[in-house]
Amino acid sequence: MTNKIITRFAPSPTGFLHIGGARTALFNWVFAKKHGGEMLLRIEDTDRARYSEEAKRAIEEGLKWLGLDWGGEAVSQYQRRDRHREIAHELVEKGLAYKCYCSAEELSEMRARAREAGLPPRYDGRWRDADPALAPEGVAPSIRIKVPTSGTIVVHDHVQGDVTFECANLDDFIILRSDGSPTYMLAVVVDDHDMNVTHIIRGDDHLTNAARQIVIFNAMQWDVPQMTHVPLIHGPDGAKLSKRHGAMGVDAYRKMGYLPAAVRNYLARLGWSHGDDEFFSTEQMIEWFSLEGLNKGASRFDFAKLENLNGQHIREEKPAYLFTTMVELAEELGNYSDKAGLLAHKETVISALPELQPRAKTVLELITLAQFIYAERPLPIEEKASKHLNENTRAMLIEIIALLEIHANWEAASLQQLVRDFGEQKELKLGKVAQPMRVALTGRTVSPGVFEVMELLGKSESLERLKDQAVHP
Ligand code: GLU
Repeated sequence: MTNKIITRFAPSPTGFLHIGGARTALFNWVFAKKHGGEMLLRIEDTDRARYSEEAKRAIEEGLKWLGLDWGGEAVSQYQRRDRHREIAHELVEKGLAYKCYCSAEELSEMRARAREAGLPPRYDGRWRDADPALAPEGVAPSIRIKVPTSGTIVVHDHVQGDVTFECANLDDFIILRSDGSPTYMLAVVVDDHDMNVTHIIRGDDHLTNAARQIVIFNAMQWDVPQMTHVPLIHGPDGAKLSKRHGAMGVDAYRKMGYLPAAVRNYLARLGWSHGDDEFFSTEQMIEWFSLEGLNKGASRFDFAKLENLNGQHIREEKPAYLFTTMVELAEELGNYSDKAGLLAHKETVISALPELQPRAKTVLELITLAQFIYAERPLPIEEKASKHLNENTRAMLIEIIALLEIHANWEAASLQQLVRDFGEQKELKLGKVAQPMRVALTGRTVSPGVFEVMELLGKSESLERLKDQAVHP
């Protein structure tokens, strides 16, 4: 029987789910989904000074919005500290770890000496084999693990290949501090073991930690999970990703009008590839995903690509789903008039969406494009649209209004025929006639086809809007 694949996403609660963390979560999730396994969530909340309930909630909400589900309740690393301590003491009893009574002064002297000798600052192992009877009175010890004094630790990594660390370069690191708090190194190993994690997928900034963690796994004779360290995300200029580049929380992307499916698609492409495929659904991603497809080099964040993919996903999505997304976004951004307008014209907006979808790259643009449907008369005219309304075009609109008033068939095709005939008669190109109509009907220069707009608005609303601009501007 093969073991169920268990991955985990283990963020430190920093106040939001940043885009790099979201990508790590996505890889863990996709890999687990692909193999019928499960992703678990562990909040690495041991730094109590920085922890807050709100920061935890931000992570959970970010994951939910992205559609990345996890098994069971999120595990709090801090709540498991007794278990971490238990393992530290077990390792001492087994002779695989030891109590170190060095004071802070001693340690800094040790570091200074190493520096003078041109060596990396390392613990010199003075309590490793010392007689416990020498323990100074009243000093709380820390616990250090015995790292093998020779040989190597090899991290078998799915992206980096076999990465070898000389044991001589890993000093006996602390697993339990003198105040009884477990270190990150110990907590991660104990948690991964207890959570039955089979695969660790995380940023490659944790690669050296992996070697130390393997020392603990080995000491406990626990299976080492399979390791995958993913190269980090850089900005478009190759520098470390900063806010300017897009290192924001996923909630910022939601507010800019990106769809979760597009963000998933984009994040997957940032560091993973399947041939030349750029645009794909989440189902395809799950089908195609493999750790071998992860790139070895750092990836570069590119807003234009994200926007482009978002536009493609908007085109593919169902109108009813997009409508819900538009309403939610309007609500979230506090655009209550848009929210009310959308809800009051739900059916019309949904039926107009296939016309709007190819014209929008974000959900925000979709809302803007839909505004003409519920805009109140007289419509505000966008600055750059207003130049299409002048004495000549107004006179022309008045003539067209007269024709439209006696026209019974209010379907787009029939309306188009009417305007086309009018243009031919006047020797005007269709665009010359249609653009002022569009501006009067929508207040903008960009909208769905003008005849579709008229059909959608109906005869009386269309005529009133035309008259607002042509007869009594
Ligand atoms: N808490 C660590 C971080 O946010 C991740 C630790 C891990 O994945 O092992 O970078």
